[in-house]
Amino acid sequence: MKNKPKILIVDDNPENLISLEKLLYTLKVICVRAHSTNEALKLTLNHEFSVVIIDVQFPETDGLKTLQRLHSKKKTRQLPVIFLSSNNHEDSFLLKDIKSGSVVFIHKPIVPELLIGKIRVFHELYLQKRKLADLLKFKERVNIKLHEAIRKAEQANYTKSLFLANMSHEIRTPLNGILGMANVLAETNLNNEQRSFLNLIQVSGENLLIIINDLLDFSKIETGQISIESISIHLTQEIETVMTLMRINAQDKGLNINYSIDSNIHTQISGDPFRIKQVLINLINNAIKFTESGGISLNVGLNNNLFGQSFIRFSVIDTGIGINDDSKNNLFKEFNQVDNSITRKFGGTGLGLAICKSLVSLMHGRIGLESEVGKGSVFWFEIPYIKTHEKSNQEVIYTEFAQPHNLKILVAEDNPINQKVAIHSLNQLGYQCDLAKNGRQAVEMHHKNEYDIIFMDIQMPEIDGLEATVLIRKYEKEIEFQKPVIIIAATANAFNEDKQKCLQSGMNFHMSKPFRPEVLKKMLLKAIKMANNF
Ligand code: ADP
Repeated sequence: MKNKPKILIVDDNPENLISLEKLLYTLKVICVRAHSTNEALKLTLNHEFSVVIIDVQFPETDGLKTLQRLHSKKKTRQLPVIFLSSNNHEDSFLLKDIKSGSVVFIHKPIVPELLIGKIRVFHELYLQKRKLADLLKFKERVNIKLHEAIRKAEQANYTKSLFLANMSHEIRTPLNGILGMANVLAETNLNNEQRSFLNLIQVSGENLLIIINDLLDFSKIETGQISIESISIHLTQEIETVMTLMRINAQDKGLNINYSIDSNIHTQISGDPFRIKQVLINLINNAIKFTESGGISLNVGLNNNLFGQSFIRFSVIDTGIGINDDSKNNLFKEFNQVDNSITRKFGGTGLGLAICKSLVSLMHGRIGLESEVGKGSVFWFEIPYIKTHEKSNQEVIYTEFAQPHNLKILVAEDNPINQKVAIHSLNQLGYQCDLAKNGRQAVEMHHKNEYDIIFMDIQMPEIDGLEATVLIRKYEKEIEFQKPVIIIAATANAFNEDKQKCLQSGMNFHMSKPFRPEVLKKMLLKAIKMANNF
C-alpha cells in the first residue's frame, strides 16, 4: 500500500520492542520504536501514527501522564493508544480519568489475536479518517476552483455588458450625426430620386438605432441596472401613442391594425409607461414583421388569477407565419430565432423577446404565446392591475402654444458633427443658437448672456453637462435670479437612470440622441411653456 500506516511502539525494554514488532509483522505496517515516553512524544511531532502502543510502567513517567500530554496537543488529541499493562489495580485507577474511546488496555501476557484485532479496528478508523481528510481537501480545492471560475464568469459577463453599453453609447453618437443630418437634408430641396435615397439612409439609420437600443437594454438588464417606474398613467393615451407609431409600419405593408380595451378596465392605472410601451412596440413590430396579409390587433383585458389578484393582459394577435411547437419554448431566450433563415429574410437580433420577458418580470408580470404555423400567433403579457385616481400629467398638448422666435438658445456639445446637427435642426425650426464646446464654456457663456434655453450634452471635456448644470443652478441661487434657464439634456445616455441623473443635477428635461425633428419641436414647446410659468 502506498503510504503504509505507521505504528509507534513504546517500551524501555528493547527486547519487548523486537518481539512486539514481530507480532505486528502480519499487519504490513511500519513500526517506529521509542525507548522512552519522551522520545515517543517527540516522534509524534514529526510523524503521523495510526496507533500508539505503550507499556504503562516506565521508570521516568507513567503511561497516564504520557496520555495526558498526547491529548493536550491538537495533532495527537485523537490518536488511539493501546496500553500494555501487567497491573490490574493501576489499570482501574487510570481508567477512571480516561474519557476517550480511543484508549484501550491489554493485559500482559498479551494474547496476540486480541492485540492485532484492536489494532485492525484502529487502522480501519485511521484509513477512513485519512480518506475523509483527502476528500475534504479535494472538495476544498474544487470549491476554490469553482469560486474562481464563477468569479471569472461574472467578471467576464459584467465586462461584456459594460462593453456593450459603452459601444452602444459610442455608436449612438455618430448615428446622431447620420440621422440628424439626414433629417436636416430632408427639409431641403431634393429631387425624387435624391429623396428616395435619403429615405433609405433614414430607414437604415432607424433600424440600426433599434438594434443599438436592444443591445443597450440587454446589457443593462444583465447588469441589473434597469429600474421600473410606478406612476399614474392613462392607459388609453399610452396605447394610442403606440398605435399611432405602429399604424405607419402596418399600413406600409398593407396590413389592418386595430385595438380594443375591455370597458371594465379603469383606464387610470399605476405602471411604467415607458416599459409597457416598449414591450408593446416590440410585440407589435414582430407581428407586423412576420405577417404578410391580414392584420394585427391588440386586445387589452383583465385576468384574475387563482389567488384573486387582478392583472391587465395585453394580447397582440396576428395572422402571420406562426411558430412551430419546438421553437416556442426558446423564443424568450436571448439570441433565439425560429431558424437562421429568419435572420436572413427578416433581420433582427433575436434579443427583442428576451428583453420583453425581463422587463415584464421586472414589472411583476408574465409573458407567453400561443401560435399555429400558417395561421398566426398571439403574444401576450400581463402585469398587475393597480387602479389610481391621479390625473396623468404626461399628455399635455404642447402644440397649442405660440412659438416665440427671439429665444436665446445655447447648445453645449463637444462633437463637431453633432454641433452641426443641433444648429441646423434648430435653424430649420426658425431658431438661432450659440455654441459652447464644453461644460465650462457653457457656464461662462450663460453668466455673460443669460440664455433662455440650454441644450446640454452630458459627456463633455473639462466639465461635463451634469456638473455644468449644478454650477449654473448654484449661480442662479447666488444672484437670486428670477427666471432660471431651462436646461434640456441632449444626450446619447438614453436610459431612465440617465434621465434621473440629469433631472437630479437640476436639468428640466431629457432628450435622447439621436432625436427626431418632432421631438426637438416638442421639447422647445415644453421649455417655452415652463418658461412662461416662471
Ligand atoms: P428578432 O425579431 O429581432 O429576431 P425577437 O426576440 O423579437 O427577435 O424574436 C425572436 C424570434 O421569434 C423571431 O426571430 C421569430 O423567429 C419569432 N417571432 C417573434 N414574433 C413572432 C411572430 N409574431 N410571428 C412569428 N414569429 C415570431
